[in-house]
Amino acid sequence: MADADPKCLFCRIAAGELPADRVYEDEQVLAFKDIHPQAPFHCLIIPKTHVATLNDFSPQHGALIGHLLLTAKRIAAEHGLPGYRVAMNVNREGGQVVFHVHLHVLGGRPLAGALG
Ligand code: AMP
Ligand code: ZN
Repeated sequence: MADADPKCLFCRIAAGELPADRVYEDEQVLAFKDIHPQAPFHCLIIPKTHVATLNDFSPQHGALIGHLLLTAKRIAAEHGLPGYRVAMNVNREGGQVVFHVHLHVLGGRPLAGALG
């Protein structure tokens, strides 16, 4: 299914060309540990198809967007996280560094504090 960008880091991880500590995978999405964790549990959930930013999603991606969020819920349950944070950075001004859409899932400690 996936439209892959051969220059994209996360497409290469999804294709198995680069290593990652995978925590969940199905036909549509892949989740793997963030290489620079900002909490005791920190993973990224990506669609296997290449979409650069949230702004590049369209209504036809609605089911995929829902699946990304439900995957966050599933991973949090599987890892025993009583509470957690789901975040998505959009564009450089929003803190995005890797231009393949991803959800951050963070937990494992209390996450009170500023979001921005
Ligand atoms: P963002 O700033 O939202 O684009 O987040 C990109 C995230 O990708 C950062 O938290 C990085 O630590 C993480 N990251 C970059 N390269 C890798 C990699 N090879 N494997 C896992 N996580 C990575
Ligand atoms: Zn990509």
